Amino acid sequence: MAFGSGSLVWFRKGLRIHDNPALEFASKGTDFLYPVFVVDPHYMKPDPDAFSPGSSLAGLNRIRFLLESLVDLDSNLKKLGSRLLVLKGEPGEVIIRCLEQWNVKKLCFEYDTEPYYQAMDVRVKEYASAAGIEVFSPVSHTLFNPADIIQKNGGKPPLTYQSFLKLAGQPSWASCPLSITSTSLPPVGDFGNCKISEVPTVTELGYEDTGQDELTPFRGGESEALKRLRDSISDNQWVANFEKPKGDPSAFLKPATTVLSPYLKFGCLSSRYFYQCLQDIYKNVKKHTSPPVSLVGQLLWREFFYTVAFGTPNFDQMKDSRICKQIPWNNNEDLLAAWRDARTGYPWIDAIMVQLRKWGWMHHLARHCVACFLTRGDLFVHWEKGRDVFGRLLIDSDWAINNGNWLWLSCSSFFYQYNRIYSPVSFGKKYDPNGEYIRHFLPVLKDMPKEYIYEPWTAPLSIQTKAKCIVGKDYPRPVVFHDSASKECKRRMGEAYALNQKLNGLVSEQDLHSLR
Ligand code: FAD
Repeated sequence: MAFGSGSLVWFRKGLRIHDNPALEFASKGTDFLYPVFVVDPHYMKPDPDAFSPGSSLAGLNRIRFLLESLVDLDSNLKKLGSRLLVLKGEPGEVIIRCLEQWNVKKLCFEYDTEPYYQAMDVRVKEYASAAGIEVFSPVSHTLFNPADIIQKNGGKPPLTYQSFLKLAGQPSWASCPLSITSTSLPPVGDFGNCKISEVPTVTELGYEDTGQDELTPFRGGESEALKRLRDSISDNQWVANFEKPKGDPSAFLKPATTVLSPYLKFGCLSSRYFYQCLQDIYKNVKKHTSPPVSLVGQLLWREFFYTVAFGTPNFDQMKDSRICKQIPWNNNEDLLAAWRDARTGYPWIDAIMVQLRKWGWMHHLARHCVACFLTRGDLFVHWEKGRDVFGRLLIDSDWAINNGNWLWLSCSSFFYQYNRIYSPVSFGKKYDPNGEYIRHFLPVLKDMPKEYIYEPWTAPLSIQTKAKCIVGKDYPRPVVFHDSASKECKRRMGEAYALNQKLNGLVSEQDLHSLR
């Protein structure tokens, strides 16, 4: 055993060297540094019963993205004289075992607001403090500390974006330079008989070569994140004029937005560094867009959902949630499966669901369309079911943002105009009249004339035959008729809203009564 004491930096998200306060603190005043990542079999293990390759919690695209991010982190640590120590098991238990066996005086890890980490971190911190180990757990995944915003608002999270903006103001660190990169790191300490491995490959995790014809074009890792950031913001005017929801959701060769979400999700990119780069550009242009539509505005949507999610019990469910409308959704497994498996018979919807499965990423408005279609627009299926499918397949899958947006799109919270429904036919056509997006993701329709590509069931049989796509045989008929289905959905939403109002009235009557 080497002499001296060490620090353990525990990577979970925050898979980067730049702007990493936990890594920086761990490296200071220590003889050894243990940079650890724990591979959790529960998250990574192949699930043969899942509807697509991957574990029960994550699709293979995201698992691959995570492994690529770890390989890149290891390589960046090696450049600084260190390496990544990969261990396997239930992460909380593994870290406690490391603390028992190694001579560690400091434990550093990024603070995480997700319930899964909150529960685990309590256990680990309890062990560390009983063992006299210093714990440093800074907020660096988000621009703001959600707890500070909630405190400023009298203990409750703000429920509108505008009220969030008012409370948040400028981040406290915004005017100081961020510590971007260390130049060297302390050597790795002796790890005794702990089983350390290299970053596993997907094959070592038990995945077979799936022969999937099209994999996600997005590669994981900090190096790729910084390159993508540089490319995305290289055109100052593009950044200055960025305006969402303007932008073409069907653009897939060159997406209309940055596609930095998977890198922010795993912390390969620091949101604070991204924010500062954008502020630097704003300083150098004559005028620029503002929140909610600007690029900084997008980062603030992320903050908004993190804050509400952190301050709302049962944020991820309808039951026992004080912000979620109670709606009697259908429990129709066949409709859910048709949506999930891109078999609704609406090419615009199905193409988006194929992009989700193949790429693990779609444009924001494309997500709007399929989420609306599944819930209050056409199928009236529970938003939690759609949330789970996104949660597993998206490479940027993020607990707070995914739940927040599903609550929004299903008109269960935040947004209540349930009469505004996306048409599964005319919405996509507006952007892509030739249907290039559909032809790419649904090659069965590649020869369908543009007049019919959004509604192939209306094509005469002779045209279907010529296009080698017979509806009902090669491509499904629509699972519902949009006009009647959307009318019925609006009627049911109207009824549910009225009932919610009545129930709220009753509750407050009772509350008042108990106060008297
Ligand atoms: P850009 O437009 O370039 O924005 C930059 C960053 O801002 C994004 O990377 C993201 O971190 C943040 N951002 C942008 N839009 C939003 C938003 N509406 N809410 C919160 N943050 C935002 N985003 C996720 O990161 N993870 C999810 O699991 C997720 N699930 C979603 C589910 C539904 C039903 C919907 C409608 C949207 C969901 N989003 C999710 C939000 C949004 O669609 C993506 O963040 C965005 O499309 C990512 O692409 P981008 O990086 O090019 O975004």
